[in-house]
Amino acid sequence: MPSRPILRSVQTIARTTLDWLFPPTCLGCGEEGVFICPECFSRIKLIPRDVCNFCGSYTSKQGKCVNCDNKVLPYAGFRAFAYYDGVVRKAVHHLKYQNDLTIGHYLAGWLHLVYERTDWDVDLIVPIPIGEQKRAQRGYNQAERLAKPLAEMLDMPFSNESLIRINELSSQVGLNHEERRENVRQAFVANAHMVKGKTILLVDDVFTSGATMEAAATELVGSDAQKVYCLTVAKVNHLLDLD
Ligand SMILES: [Zn+2]
Ligand SMILES: [Zn+2]
Repeated sequence: MPSRPILRSVQTIARTTLDWLFPPTCLGCGEEGVFICPECFSRIKLIPRDVCNFCGSYTSKQGKCVNCDNKVLPYAGFRAFAYYDGVVRKAVHHLKYQNDLTIGHYLAGWLHLVYERTDWDVDLIVPIPIGEQKRAQRGYNQAERLAKPLAEMLDMPFSNESLIRINELSSQVGLNHEERRENVRQAFVANAHMVKGKTILLVDDVFTSGATMEAAATELVGSDAQKVYCLTVAKVNHLLDLD
């Protein structure tokens, strides 16, 4: 079994070779050699720092927004890199539907940047799971393709067995927050043995209403995880677009 640094350099070489064989093109403008060129990157709507810790909405004070003020949420904090719009939306679609390993690594770099700016002290990284049926259709879980390279970057344990999805969801599109909550309520089962006492970072591609994160975090905390934080590439800005 090769040691972790060797394994990592083999992975880096494999990725570089892949890039050489199939050079990426900018998802925004088509320029060759990069996933997102500097110009398209400069147009990304980054999430500002002074957003609500729980839903990511803009708030003038740090902490909770007026909407989250009275809520008791199962997770201790939420952060995302950018709003789900423009080239970020294209990048997430690419991650979800193009079966391209390198985009996951690229977007994990964004998650890394966001994580570095938090004071979270995490000891296990867990992707939001998808159901068997969806995995069979798509062939992979896109959240895993973010969480795994992020765990490598942070040199932290990763587990896709700590939390599994038992209920295949009917579509969340068009549902309001309460309906989404009801829809995902019983969707997850945690492995209590693996999560007990752990501070867990839940990773997903997009944060829409937060109902998925809430359900997953509730299950983890109910299985004696010490704390749960949530991190996503993008957050739907309801003022800009609904998807
Ligand atoms: Zn571009
Ligand atoms: Zn809020």
